[in-house]
Amino acid sequence: MTSQAPTFYFPAPRAQKYCSLCGTQLSRRVPPEDNRVRDVCDQCGAIHYQNPRNVVGVVPVYGDRILLCRRAIEPRLGKWTLPAGFMELGETTAQGAMRETQEEAGAQIELGQLYTIIDVPQAEQVHFFYLAKVVSPALYPGPESSEAAFFRVEDIPWNELSFRTVSSTLRHYVEDARTGVFPVHHYDIPDAESN
Ligand SMILES: [Zn+2]
Repeated sequence: MTSQAPTFYFPAPRAQKYCSLCGTQLSRRVPPEDNRVRDVCDQCGAIHYQNPRNVVGVVPVYGDRILLCRRAIEPRLGKWTLPAGFMELGETTAQGAMRETQEEAGAQIELGQLYTIIDVPQAEQVHFFYLAKVVSPALYPGPESSEAAFFRVEDIPWNELSFRTVSSTLRHYVEDARTGVFPVHHYDIPDAESN
């Protein structure tokens, strides 16, 4: 017996094949009085709208060092990242950012101000990073991280970072840390996965 390797999806596939209400195969077309292609059910009339996903994370700072996690999962396995991940239903952006920090680094933090808001339209995502103060050097990285470690600014592994939203947020942090003034940065980048 052979089994096929599981197909890897990141994130979950967006297009639906069947109506989640009645199970009929969906058509992709522009509904009346709309201007975008949607997944439409011709049987029960449901229109399955899709909207951007939010990624929430933190810039965790401990004294003069920044906490980074090494990814133990695809995509960008082995690369260093700020703790971040997809926001869950029923939580706020702040709660999601704290949860991701706990899950990926096991770090105790005090959440600070919202720091970067990054639109990534081609990836259908918006990324939010908060500043955070790490209150204890004890780290307990979870299964999504192979390690978690503190980096001085001069030791940040710029060529080994996971996503462009992470590297650009870190670049803003390093620059703003020189003056100690941390304005909110809102910008867009076409594709989060490149550096
Ligand atoms: Zn249906």
